[in-house]
Amino acid sequence: ENFEDSNIHPTILDNIHKMRYTEPTPIQKYAIPILLKGYDLMACAQTGSGKTAAFLVPIISALVTKIFQGRLQTKRRQPGSGYLKASPLYLIILPTRELAIQIFEEARRFTYRTPLRPVVIYGGSEARVQRDQVTRGCDILIATPGRLQDMMERGAISLAHVRYVVLDEADRMLDMGFEPQIRKIMLNSDLPRDESLQTLMFSATFPREIQVLARDFLKENCSRLR
Ligand code: AMP
Repeated sequence: ENFEDSNIHPTILDNIHKMRYTEPTPIQKYAIPILLKGYDLMACAQTGSGKTAAFLVPIISALVTKIFQGRLQTKRRQPGSGYLKASPLYLIILPTRELAIQIFEEARRFTYRTPLRPVVIYGGSEARVQRDQVTRGCDILIATPGRLQDMMERGAISLAHVRYVVLDEADRMLDMGFEPQIRKIMLNSDLPRDESLQTLMFSATFPREIQVLARDFLKENCSRLR
């Protein structure tokens, strides 16, 4: 089984080939078809398994397909238009600056020659610069929880148009004490909590606290990979 078999948009397939990924890793083989079908997913996966491409490839492909078919539009800020806040379609929440930068770089490669603009924000660096970045246009937002919440509170970001959300390295986020921020973002923000939202969780371990989060955030008929 290879990447060509799974209905990935041709532009994204080209980008995969440019990155010299020839064969999908096991988690990619499992997750890509399920995510393209629109299911929520809870997956136990270690760094090095190829989990990043497992959640970037199918969602970027789905977004590009919908945009090229005219079924979805990027929500860009235009002078005098309605979108004053950055309004991403795809939100990726992860624990650290290093991981954020790494995933941003991979997202840039997968979105090459597409209308999608990825932006990364994280704590410990100047908020003003990152704020300018997101308001200039942000379709895929890669963010650490504290900085994301901060920018939402300052009115720079709206989650009202998010269609896909990923919690990556969920166990590490809990270890770092981010559970209150994550719960607030997922359950008590303008993030749509209806059928239009597809939610993905990745975690290296699967302790009780992660099972509780999965129960609270994922749809009943989600797919589980352990
Ligand atoms: P990850 O587990 O997402 O951190 O990925 C681990 C490493 O494997 C990264 O350097 C990726 O660029 C690489 N990688 C991911 N998927 C593939 C693939 N299908 N073929 C070759 N390399 C891959």
